[in-house]
Amino acid sequence: MRDDEYAYERERMVTLQIEARGVADERVLRAMRRVRRHRFTPDIDPARAYDDHPHPIGEGQTISQPYIVALMSEAAHLRPPCRVLEVGTGSGYQAAVLAEMGCEVFSIEIVEPLARSARGFLEAEGYGDRVHVRAGDGYRGWPEQAPFDAILVTAAVPRLPQPLLDQLAPGGRLVVPVGEYWQVLEVHERTPDGFSRRALSDVRFVPMTGEIRRRGEPD
Ligand code: SAH
Repeated sequence: MRDDEYAYERERMVTLQIEARGVADERVLRAMRRVRRHRFTPDIDPARAYDDHPHPIGEGQTISQPYIVALMSEAAHLRPPCRVLEVGTGSGYQAAVLAEMGCEVFSIEIVEPLARSARGFLEAEGYGDRVHVRAGDGYRGWPEQAPFDAILVTAAVPRLPQPLLDQLAPGGRLVVPVGEYWQVLEVHERTPDGFSRRALSDVRFVPMTGEIRRRGEPD
């Protein structure tokens, strides 16, 4: 049984911020009703963790707004058994939602102390065996574990990282914010004859750092 101290806040979050804005995937809604978001943001008032905006998590990074986590999780179209790669572990919250949806999650975080604390939160919340966190640059993905049914990138890219597209299974989806200051959340699906692209929403994410900033040329 869960510690249900903040179950009311979670229920309000799901109903008013997520369902009300059109997210209907029952697996996403159920997962977000279960994951204790406040356990991934120990430095803020627990009840505030469920508010309708991102929060700072240290190292200049943020935990995404709940609605954006829901939108990305729904866009990934996941049904167990599923294998998912996340680039940008941050707090570990998005990874926990994907694990709660029944997927095995591989998540890469470039800021070492964040990778370490996220691993700790995930273990404490019981997701340690389904979420594998690696410290490093996610630009090249996790080829040893590919292919993935979905890849979620939670930092904005100036252009699509080809190595991530290459690691999608047939029918797999890359969900990624593309742009600099103004960004669009895009879904790229691997189809029998290439990739299809769909734009979902205007978004604001922190920029992806590392190798993608040092490479001028498309891959
Ligand atoms: N998904 C997170 C929010 C992530 S914020 C959550 O649920 O809390 C974006 C994260 O991407 C930051 O922690 C940042 O350090 C990380 N990041 C930025 N560039 C990266 C890269 N090249 N590889 C891996 N992680 C990266």
